[in-house]
Amino acid sequence: MATIFSKIIAGEIPSYKVAENDKFYAFLDINPLAKGHTLVVPKQEVDYIFDLSDEDLGEMHVFAKHVALAIQKAFPCRKVGEAVIGLEVPHAHIHLIPMQKESDMLFSNPKLKLQPEDFEAIAKAIRENL
Ligand code: AMP
Repeated sequence: MATIFSKIIAGEIPSYKVAENDKFYAFLDINPLAKGHTLVVPKQEVDYIFDLSDEDLGEMHVFAKHVALAIQKAFPCRKVGEAVIGLEVPHAHIHLIPMQKESDMLFSNPKLKLQPEDFEAIAKAIRENL
């Protein structure tokens, strides 16, 4: 069965899209730790990120880099942190999270409650900085 992220990539489930190419898709995390929290996923349905080929893992990080730089321009921060967890959704993904301090990366932090129009505005701001 297709993962929820494959359904998002296929457009069967809506997402706040940030970027896409032939191999990767980036969209806003629906439970963000910070404004701009974005997920980067490969279109190839692989659960564990380290099961990707060396080439695809490298390309995924280059894609994530461009998205991260756009996030930082749209939402100024000290750095954009990268995290890979993958215990909830069995489809490899990189979290990109704007950080001011180390604890901003804690997944136990409360998530932001945003309205659809907030998500739309955030995704647009990142896209405009790509
Ligand atoms: P993990 O697999 O532990 O890295 O967590 C999966 C992440 O995917 C969580 O941060 C969720 O908020 C996020 N997530 C799950 N479903 C969706 C969705 N439909 N749209 C956007 N983000 C999602």
